[in-house]
Amino acid sequence: MNPQNPVFIPGPTNMPEAVRLACHMPTLDHRSPAFADILHPCLDGVRKVIKSDDADIFIFPSTGTGGWETAISNTLSPGDKVLVARNGMFSHRWIDMCQRHGLDVQVIDVAWGHGIPLDAYEEALRADKTHAIKAVLATHNETATGVKSDIAGVRRAMDAASHPALLLVDGVSSIGSMDFRFDQWGVDVAVTGSQKGFMLPAGLAIVGFSAKAIRATQTAKLARTFFDVADMAKGYAADAFPYTPPVGLMNGLRVAIDMLLEEGLDNVFARHHRMAEGVRHAVDAWGLRLCAATPDLYSDSVSAIRTPEGFNATDIVTVAARDYDMAFGVGLGDVAGKVFRIGHLGMLTDAMVLSGLGVAEMAMVDLGLPVKLGAGVAAAQEYYRHSNKQQKAAA
Ligand SMILES: *Cc1c(COP(=O)(O)O)cnc(C)c1O
Repeated sequence: MNPQNPVFIPGPTNMPEAVRLACHMPTLDHRSPAFADILHPCLDGVRKVIKSDDADIFIFPSTGTGGWETAISNTLSPGDKVLVARNGMFSHRWIDMCQRHGLDVQVIDVAWGHGIPLDAYEEALRADKTHAIKAVLATHNETATGVKSDIAGVRRAMDAASHPALLLVDGVSSIGSMDFRFDQWGVDVAVTGSQKGFMLPAGLAIVGFSAKAIRATQTAKLARTFFDVADMAKGYAADAFPYTPPVGLMNGLRVAIDMLLEEGLDNVFARHHRMAEGVRHAVDAWGLRLCAATPDLYSDSVSAIRTPEGFNATDIVTVAARDYDMAFGVGLGDVAGKVFRIGHLGMLTDAMVLSGLGVAEMAMVDLGLPVKLGAGVAAAQEYYRHSNKQQKAAA
């Protein structure tokens, strides 16, 4: 792979130079006061990015998967019931983790390409008269299918059923790229990692806990040591970690957050929407369809694109990598071979997206798909010309 080319996998994402350089620092004594100047801006900044006034933020040396484990092991006890929809590979993996932790998982299976079924959530919660369900799990953005679910709607369903369960949300491929409203949506635990919207290498699990989730930690009996938020909170109170913190990554996170806040969260989300719309215009011009069933489900951070019956979508990814040094995402799980994915999150510009669309087109034509060279690029160009001017005029 030629490292000059941007990647179009839905994480890890392209690293801005300033973020990459910030990660690259000499050893710093993490017990010296200098660490506080990295730690606290990270905690305060993440809170701003998830739009919360007072969530407790915790950063672990881990990945998004460790964030899932942090969410469940700190708030639940063995045998606790959780309600969760499975609509893609990531929700599937979180379910698997819950099962392996000895939770009683009520799974609502949904066709891949669809979002969280709010009616089914509400029905299950209303039927749960004894409040056996201790947590409702929701994957905000299913990265395998490019489907965004309605977290405000999940909260409404919980409130409509007057259900006291915790709301645990996977925001790994949405936070920092798509609007996420921790306080307004009544989220109890939000989970993300460093290598998607935060534009860093993998290596951090980043979570936010509501006051209610913190209260739940006092009775939660699932085993936890490395991911214990109480130990982490004690560490933070002394400007430290309970173990050795990944100082360079956190310094990078501090800089990444500064970049997001300087651009302005609304502008960041608008930019992601624009990137995504350009891709969607191209998909349309190619005569292909997204895996996401309806426009309200379209993700602004990743598009999973269906290829014609009998064609192996993974071949596009293989040819793009082998012949053009460019990385796209393969289909996972139930949609393996049926979709390929274009990640369009993190540090991306219109121009970068056009390069990705151009390469995807070449790979498709090489493989004999009935796509005309330039068709998708031209559709995206038309869209970008106009949307860019509108956005600049509005700014
Ligand atoms: C990437 C991703 C994860 C897993 O994160 P890792 O950092 O690979 O552990 C979980 N959920 C979603 C929605 C993701 O996109």
